[in-house]
Amino acid sequence: MVAQLPDPIIIARRVGGVRFHTFISSFTDDNIANATHIIESENKLVLVDGQFLVPYALKFREYADSIGKPIDRIYLSHRHPDHWFGLAAAFNDIPIYALAETIEFLKEDGEASRQDHWKMGNLAPDTVPIPKEVACAGEEIIDGVRYVFDEVVDTEIDFLLTIALPDLGVFIAQDLIYSGTHLYLTQSMNHWIQVLQGMLLSDYDLFLAGHGVPADRNEVAGNIEYLTIAMDAAGRGLVNEEFKRFMLEQYPERKCPAIFNIYMPRLFGNARQF
Ligand SMILES: [Zn+2]
Repeated sequence: MVAQLPDPIIIARRVGGVRFHTFISSFTDDNIANATHIIESENKLVLVDGQFLVPYALKFREYADSIGKPIDRIYLSHRHPDHWFGLAAAFNDIPIYALAETIEFLKEDGEASRQDHWKMGNLAPDTVPIPKEVACAGEEIIDGVRYVFDEVVDTEIDFLLTIALPDLGVFIAQDLIYSGTHLYLTQSMNHWIQVLQGMLLSDYDLFLAGHGVPADRNEVAGNIEYLTIAMDAAGRGLVNEEFKRFMLEQYPERKCPAIFNIYMPRLFGNARQF
């Protein structure tokens, strides 16, 4: 019997009147330590991603409400269900922003993706959230804080929204980084490594991940190493259980091995992309 661990809440940084909060779903069982964030500025809150399972989405909402400032908006980083399932359950009343490609996916395939997870029962939401606001690459001042948005293609996902706060040294990378957990691997590992190398050359020193605790440069470098070793293993012909066993041996300290079973049918077979 595994002890029931708490859901960590971390103040990742406090600088210039802004606080960064990270809420992480418990690392227990088949959980994949989804990390969602709150940027608390003087008058309002900006949130990033909505958690996966409904109970965690509700806890994340409860925590955001406990801060005592209005939630101005929530950004959805990409179309993987572990980032948007919780939006429908807990953030229906908040304006949701996402890349045009992410909104298109949710309109076209969101319901199929939701139904694909019927085995989760009421851990999955009843409806699909359709963001009404399009997030575009560029700068915006929100509540006196400078945000820089960008669209990153072909890494862990085809289209990813990144959010940077250059004056505060914070880069919200979401699933470009798996912090202390096993990565969700795709066919685009080579390009993914290049993007991570670019992050190491930047002035940012705090990287908020989509899974696990807020990361430093060490963890970014660790993700580059993980991807390099995984590409090499796949290049040597390791697949499925053999591949998984090899990676678990290489990285016994990384958490959330349930992710192998989520991505391997896509990486090594031709399972649907959602
Ligand atoms: Zn994810």
